Amino acid sequence: MSVDVIDRLQAMAATPGRVWMRGGHPVTYGDLLAETGRMANALAGLGLAKGDRLLVQLDKSEAVLSLYLACLRLGVVFLPVNPGYTIAETAHFLTDAEPALALVEDRRQQAIAERGAKAIGLGAFLDLVAAGQADFADPAHAPEDLAAILYTSGTTGRSKGVCLSRENLASNAEALVELWQFTEHDVLLHVLPVFHTHGLFVATNCVLFAGASMIFQRAFSPDAVLAALPEVTVMMGVPTFYSRLLADARLTPAVCARVRLFISGSAPLSPATHAEWRVRTGHTILERYGMTETNMITSNPYDGDRRAGTVGMPLPGVKVRITGPDGAVLPAGEAGSIEVMGPNVFVGYWRMPEQTAREFRDGWFVTGDLGAIDAEGYLSILGRAKDLVITGGLNVYPAEVEAALDDLPGVAASAVIGVAHPDFGEAVVACLIRSAGAELDEAEVRHTLRDRLAGFKIPKRVLVMAEFPRNAMGKVQKAELRKALAGLFGAN
Ligand code: AMP
Repeated sequence: MSVDVIDRLQAMAATPGRVWMRGGHPVTYGDLLAETGRMANALAGLGLAKGDRLLVQLDKSEAVLSLYLACLRLGVVFLPVNPGYTIAETAHFLTDAEPALALVEDRRQQAIAERGAKAIGLGAFLDLVAAGQADFADPAHAPEDLAAILYTSGTTGRSKGVCLSRENLASNAEALVELWQFTEHDVLLHVLPVFHTHGLFVATNCVLFAGASMIFQRAFSPDAVLAALPEVTVMMGVPTFYSRLLADARLTPAVCARVRLFISGSAPLSPATHAEWRVRTGHTILERYGMTETNMITSNPYDGDRRAGTVGMPLPGVKVRITGPDGAVLPAGEAGSIEVMGPNVFVGYWRMPEQTAREFRDGWFVTGDLGAIDAEGYLSILGRAKDLVITGGLNVYPAEVEAALDDLPGVAASAVIGVAHPDFGEAVVACLIRSAGAELDEAEVRHTLRDRLAGFKIPKRVLVMAEFPRNAMGKVQKAELRKALAGLFGAN
């Protein structure tokens, strides 16, 4: 069993002066423990008890991390929701999760209350916290107790509530701290959203478990990141952060002089960005793979070859296998369904036992991602099960075609989808964004790909777009692209 998140917090707070958040007015672990105690008392005063859900829909701020820890202290289930969701979208979480309380920005409090939920605005809540006691007698917790429910981003189908236990979070934090060699001397740049597993758990728990500190920024801006980088030892980001920083001339090796590790995840990092980052900064980005349901699954090595286009090997204690359509385990090099087992894998979907059962096979969680493990153990992700294009009866993995397209001069980004086709069933279609100043010609792109890809993999159409539909984590919303292009070949 792993050390519980709160036991870790208590241990770190025992060292006076140990800094949790840097910046103008540093916050120590002692301050953090006191603040989470006041918050836990305030939540208990509002009637929340162990097992109740607290829906938190707040703009990114330091308070959200304290709230997460306060919930863990009280045993209340933390349920963060993207602040970008409309009231109508948020209503789904209110009816599905039945939170005992919704803590929202003041401007939303009335609209949420009108949906029948007990709601409190952040201002009123922080007044209660400020007036309260820091001393809080932590009750005992079990590793299997529910810590949080995170709703899936819904890139495929309806959003489901992912139930995560305390052990899920703690085991993953311990594995990542060990693998990425976090120590108390690290300073992490926190620029990710805090309603998603990446910023909420990966970034925050690595810092907490190592007793390290963070520089907390409320949104990603190249100006702020470049200003902070000289103080930073580790940065975690989504691929879009890295490509946006590359577009800024101020990104130099000197700015990154203290950094020991750049980590990318949540969406595929293009090999071009990986290569360009190395040229520009001297650092090789470490790409890792995970999902809300499983926390982190694999990572490229800390010491050793970090291979572009791969997500590395399973974390300590985590097992990964690739299976074929009949469920048989496939040998190295063969593409199939990625399945995961370990203490990182979630408890189940909230009140969806049948859905949960469908997504497990013999105790292995079926991720819905497609991939292959090479002879040296590196996993490559080839797309989502839903993304797989079957054209004229042949399987095409979008990631393979995207990799070929990304290598072409003038291509800044690519997204490959299947579109209904009267002859082939589905046709491979490529959507491209061009680099600044570049020209892209459809016939020429298709012709050039002939050297790299078998004929059936070459896109039937190549469309140049100004931008792709993306979600908050920078993931391309392929379902949106598929919808927009459904009639491209006159078939539906
Ligand atoms: P989420 O639950 O929002 O974190 O989304 C998880 C999904 O993001 C995974 O199932 C993958 O499809 C995708 N993903 C995460 N990390 C990577 C990565 N490094 N490369 C490619 N896809 C990734």
